[in-house]
Amino acid sequence: MDLQANKEKVFNEVLAASLAAGRSQDTVKIIAVTKYVDSEIAKKLIATGVTHIAENRVDKFLDKYHTLAGQGITWHLIGTLQRRKVKEVINYVDYFHALDSVKLAEEIDKRAEHVVKCFLQVNISGEESKHGFAVEELDEVLKLMKTFKHIRLVGLMTMAPIDATEQELNEIFKQTQELQQTLQKKQIENMPFSELSMGMSRDFAQAIAHGATFVRIGTAFFK
Ligand SMILES: *Cc1c(COP(=O)(O)O)cnc(C)c1O
Repeated sequence: MDLQANKEKVFNEVLAASLAAGRSQDTVKIIAVTKYVDSEIAKKLIATGVTHIAENRVDKFLDKYHTLAGQGITWHLIGTLQRRKVKEVINYVDYFHALDSVKLAEEIDKRAEHVVKCFLQVNISGEESKHGFAVEELDEVLKLMKTFKHIRLVGLMTMAPIDATEQELNEIFKQTQELQQTLQKKQIENMPFSELSMGMSRDFAQAIAHGATFVRIGTAFFK
């Protein structure tokens, strides 16, 4: 595993995809998903110049955080979060990408001692097995979330199905971007909706073409 070479390849490909989409380099932030490796390897990746780190499970997040915090890293929690685990982890999280219920938001608001930047996870494809809000329920959800002082809704997060065709991928990312732009225009206090968290190792180029501002990349760093 040549971390330096992988890092350069990922960063170059993200740059190329950004330029191809007519976007400047600094509009896409690259998050390294370190769930496949231990803290030692994550530390080596950080030494190559990666500054955004993500984990999808609370125990692994805490393990990495406690070993690696204090090096100017921005910490992202990207996976489903159970309500009973919120208090263990939320005060170390800069960005939470998988806000998928009002009850979870309520618990985060109660336990957080800082304002947590959150992405609403949306289920654009309507797959039963996928987490996230359905588009139709968002208006109601935003109303219910208005009173939460420790949650800032910075944007939307989505995941395309594993077996999505090229065309389905583009459709999902395009619809997510349209929804994000609609929400951003509403200019709701504490809900700027300026960001889009979408794109993983296999589909980040398409996501960037449709406005992704954060890409979550694991496999491509650690192969
Ligand atoms: C693992 C994971 C990723 C990264 O996926 P790769 O295909 O390894 O790049 C992105 N987002 C979430 C929510 C994940 O769990």
